Amino acid sequence: MALKILIAGAGMGGLAAASSLMKAGHDVEVYEQAPELGEVGAGIQMSANAMHVLMGLDLREEIDKVSVKPGAYVFRAFDTGEEISRFNLAADHEKLHGAPYCQMHRADFHDILARKAQSMKSDVVRLNHAVTGFEEDADGVTLKFSNGNTAHGDMLIGADGVKSAIRRQIAGDAPATYTGDCAWRITLPVEELPNDFLPQVMSVFMGPGAHVVCYFLRAGKLLNFVGLVETDDVSEESWTAKFPWEKLKADFVGWNDKIQTIIDTVDHDKCYRWSLHYRPPIDNWSTRRATMLGDSVHATLPYLAQGACMAIEDGAILTRALSMSDNIPDALQLYQRNRMDRTARIVEQSDANRTLFHMPSMEAIRARFAKVDEGADRNGWLYSYNPLTVDLT
Ligand SMILES: Cc1cc2nc3c(=O)[nH]c(=O)nc-3n(C[C@H](O)[C@H](O)[C@H](O)COP(=O)(O)OP(=O)(O)OC[C@H]3O[C@@H](n4cnc5c(N)ncnc54)[C@H](O)[C@@H]3O)c2cc1C
Repeated sequence: MALKILIAGAGMGGLAAASSLMKAGHDVEVYEQAPELGEVGAGIQMSANAMHVLMGLDLREEIDKVSVKPGAYVFRAFDTGEEISRFNLAADHEKLHGAPYCQMHRADFHDILARKAQSMKSDVVRLNHAVTGFEEDADGVTLKFSNGNTAHGDMLIGADGVKSAIRRQIAGDAPATYTGDCAWRITLPVEELPNDFLPQVMSVFMGPGAHVVCYFLRAGKLLNFVGLVETDDVSEESWTAKFPWEKLKADFVGWNDKIQTIIDTVDHDKCYRWSLHYRPPIDNWSTRRATMLGDSVHATLPYLAQGACMAIEDGAILTRALSMSDNIPDALQLYQRNRMDRTARIVEQSDANRTLFHMPSMEAIRARFAKVDEGADRNGWLYSYNPLTVDLT
């Protein structure tokens, strides 16, 4: 069944799905609200579970050129920076799972995904099209835009992110509740930092009420810093909202020298802060002709670094479900049936990591890490999933 498939949203999830679907023989149009394609200046991590899909799209070489493969995932103390626990990534991750763990600049990764989709159909992405809703009947689905235009297809995928218009129509309004955490994000050139500042690993500094994630981008030339802090001061849920440097500095008083050096070195006008929100799980993702993927349907806290990975998994499973079914409604049910439990588990585990990473004292953190083996756990169920081969039932 070769279909005309409309996708709302040209984020990482929408673009990866577009390529998977076109590769399977479908005709795809992606409608994006923004006037141009792009992503913000921050990092993104892709583990093997998503990399299988990207390698299936022949993107390994392109990703190798722009990514860093961190040697390990290292958990550290917020005050001294000392190592509490670690598990190997790099060659061990690839040997275990058959695909690498990659850290990239979002703009580089988004560009790779956009170029891939455009190489298969040059006008696949239509910019300046803000989706407002859709109508469907026996003949197909009509997507409506704020500029008055419409588009017609056999099927629709909402990949329009946390504030999804498609989700509103399929599942009703989903009240977003503030989690109590904000995410600071900054990047800075490594040449502005002291020599051998941090090893090329994924570092997670954990402390009471906050944690910091640091890793490298662009062949180690850029350092990515994400600071997750519990705060009552709710701000915008936006990647581009700036926040005063003085507040960043104040949030990390008492943290180790590395964190102080990063904060003191960063351009004071380039500190961004996003307020993290919970959204309730949805128990039906699809109508007869429309479904959703990525943040629109299972937004998550970033505490397992899996939001975009899940979106990419979704697109691959949806493509397989369409090839295994005789009609669209059955395919959409097969898709959601095979995605609900896994995505719910990732969302739950991400929530749980908030507790694990923000324990009230270093003693509590050490005691907890003495009992859990994060690496074995994640290797057992999270990174080992292969969307291209997993059984669909
Ligand atoms: C601090 C932080 C760190 C993170 N780190 C990681 C990580 O390391 N690894 C990982 O896998 N995930 C990570 N994530 C999660 C990841 O960023 C998201 O899960 C991912 O971006 C979701 O992709 P998406 O395509 O579903 O949505 P989005 O990336 O939000 O894309 C949605 C697209 O739809 C467009 N759009 C929105 N509304 C409309 C409309 N009405 N009409 C048309 N277009 C519309 C938007 O402009 C956008 O282009 C992190 C998140 C945060 C907050």
